[in-house]
Amino acid sequence: MRIVAVLVMVFGIMASSIGLGHASGQVVSNEVKMQAAAQTAQSYLDAAVAGNYNALFDYMHPDVLAEVPRSVALQIFSQIYGQTKPGKAVIKDVQLGSYTWPVNNKTYDDAAQVTYTQEFTGQDGKKQTLETMMYLVPFQGQYRWFFGNSRAYIADASARFAPPKQEGTPSDITELLKFVVNDLDTFYKGSFSAQQMQYTSPGVKIVPPGRSAMTACGPAAPGFWAFYCPPDKTVYLDQAFLDDLNKEYGDFAVAFVVGHEWAHHVQTEMGIDRSQRRPSKPNEVYSIELELMADCLTGVWSRDMDARDFLDLQDLAEASAFIFARLGDPNGIDEFDPQAHGNAEQRTDAFSDGYDGGYMGCSVNGLSPVRS
Ligand SMILES: [Zn+2]
Repeated sequence: MRIVAVLVMVFGIMASSIGLGHASGQVVSNEVKMQAAAQTAQSYLDAAVAGNYNALFDYMHPDVLAEVPRSVALQIFSQIYGQTKPGKAVIKDVQLGSYTWPVNNKTYDDAAQVTYTQEFTGQDGKKQTLETMMYLVPFQGQYRWFFGNSRAYIADASARFAPPKQEGTPSDITELLKFVVNDLDTFYKGSFSAQQMQYTSPGVKIVPPGRSAMTACGPAAPGFWAFYCPPDKTVYLDQAFLDDLNKEYGDFAVAFVVGHEWAHHVQTEMGIDRSQRRPSKPNEVYSIELELMADCLTGVWSRDMDARDFLDLQDLAEASAFIFARLGDPNGIDEFDPQAHGNAEQRTDAFSDGYDGGYMGCSVNGLSPVRS
């Protein structure tokens, strides 16, 4: 019975909450919708069985993403699926109708209720087959799934699994950097470990005002801003620059810069290299691709911070004001220039792609780059 309870927490909600017989006379035939729902559900359930929990998270409805931080969901998925070792899910039935998500009490008229069976290993080590349900609602032409059966459940899971909340706001640049660095490291560690992938923290060197540092990528002299050096796997941060940035644009502009450099380390961990000329190996990308993906990954992390109530409305505005004022490539820079980062518009779009679309929005599936 306990397994039934936990599984209902993942995909199933009260069956009575779907109002059937509602969706008649639609332009897209119900048969087409049912087929799409069945296929989508199968691909999500397959991702869960394969342990691709980051993708499973990205497939959730945006209303769920607003409530549940990735860092929390990944630990729940890992725990439940790690314990129950599910076999391949078999779709049994699809019903169309309206659905009310009990967490926000919002009703979605165009929902699909997908019933499936799946084999699980119980606590006694015996296999058993269970029948359960998942609910899908279309968003931008794609069915997305819902997670969690009550607000209390989400609050309880967040209390158990979210990284500890920091009291108050960091009072100076040193404290702010310490907070951002710890948060980034915890976030990516969680993303990698949910995929059973190795993640090694980068080195972090905060260079005090007026000082220089020697790096494997050459000297970091005053006014260098911030960079990641792949050969020594270290993020170098110019304290004076970041202090000015904090005063001029606010703390989230600082977080964006550190998040972007950290993302370059994550790319290195994923095996992606910047190519100085036309990329010739599968793991090589143009500079602009690497840079925009780093902005996108910063968006993925920011979304998690937001779901953990670390951001306010002002924060995202700060980041985009800063990007527009200071970070875009000037007009006339070739897109394939070996130093290209993208213009301000491309960079804010990339950030939004990650914020809204998760790793998938950055063409990263299961923390491996997706090749087209
Ligand atoms: Zn960069």
